[in-house]
Amino acid sequence: MKNIKELIDNICSGYDPDLEDLKEIVSLEGSEADYLFQAADRVREKYCGDEVQVRAIIEFSNHCRCLCAYCGLNAENKSVKRYRMTIQEIVENAREAIDAGYKTLVLQSGEDMWYTSDKVCTIVKKIKEIDDVAITLSMGERSYEEYKAFKEAGADRYLIKHETADENLYNSLHPHSSFKSRVQCLKDLKDLGFQTGSGFMIGIPGQTYETIAKDIMLLKKIGVHMAGIGPFIPHPLTPLRSAVTGSTFNTLKAVAASRIVLKDAMLPATTSLGVVDSKSRNLVFASGANVIMQKVEPYKYRRLYDIYPKPYGSELTVKEEREKLNEYIKSFGRGIGTGRGDHGKLMD
Ligand code: SAM
Repeated sequence: MKNIKELIDNICSGYDPDLEDLKEIVSLEGSEADYLFQAADRVREKYCGDEVQVRAIIEFSNHCRCLCAYCGLNAENKSVKRYRMTIQEIVENAREAIDAGYKTLVLQSGEDMWYTSDKVCTIVKKIKEIDDVAITLSMGERSYEEYKAFKEAGADRYLIKHETADENLYNSLHPHSSFKSRVQCLKDLKDLGFQTGSGFMIGIPGQTYETIAKDIMLLKKIGVHMAGIGPFIPHPLTPLRSAVTGSTFNTLKAVAASRIVLKDAMLPATTSLGVVDSKSRNLVFASGANVIMQKVEPYKYRRLYDIYPKPYGSELTVKEEREKLNEYIKSFGRGIGTGRGDHGKLMD
């Protein structure tokens, strides 16, 4: 126990862990795992403060050219009804979210090339005309030139998860692309000055504790500003339909380990974690997480953004959902971020 405690303490105070160290940490059990969670909570408080940063996410298109073996939106799934929000719909939806108090909007979609660089830039500029909100794009792999145009149009952040740091596993799950190309996107985005987000799934078939350790090493190596870490959830219309749902305990440990390694990164309590187990979503806020995302697109679209099976509950307005989210954050004693929640500016 002493050695593990020392290792965790040393990482919190700046020691750079190697693969073996991280493998040991993400495979902890019982009171040793609790020690990790408590350490991550202290690091979160020191580097990010007590406020939970709130993001509105607009899932604006479920068209996708990719063949990700785990995702319900993959191009070979002919059963899903596809939708695209128009530029005007997206901008109006953004206005509604801004009126409800959101200061960061995440625009996410499948890899849908219908949204040309010009269209994306128009959307970004029109939203920026409404208010000085932060805009995160999450639209998959694009060229350096396109990312550059998005940045020049005013986009602040880009989220593209590396999904798994095991190159062979990545390539087998993504026959349309490659691990190298995904990592290149992350490098391009950093180079262009985006606040850059990556992340990975827990429990994807073929993953081991060593893979999770490599995932965290990769986040550190890239120098990400955000990392979304959530359990894999099998979708019935994908090749991985019979696989087992990812462990929430392993997810908590991966978030906590990422927190003590990355220190000030934005780490969300992912939607998939809340879907698998709402209790774990509460726990993750005491284990390093400091961000939450709320879907805001109309329900007629939300129901079709079917990356994995999930419940929908009763339909509320964007304002009502925001109020409910505020109450939820207050229920576990944390403050609510009132600004854009930019990386590196939380403690200003
Ligand atoms: N197309 C963009 C991209 O590739 O980054 C963004 C959309 S993609 C649907 C968003 C994220 O959903 C992925 O990064 C992946 O981690 C997650 N995802 C997809 N299918 C999932 C599943 N079955 N279980 C858990 N997460 C899943």
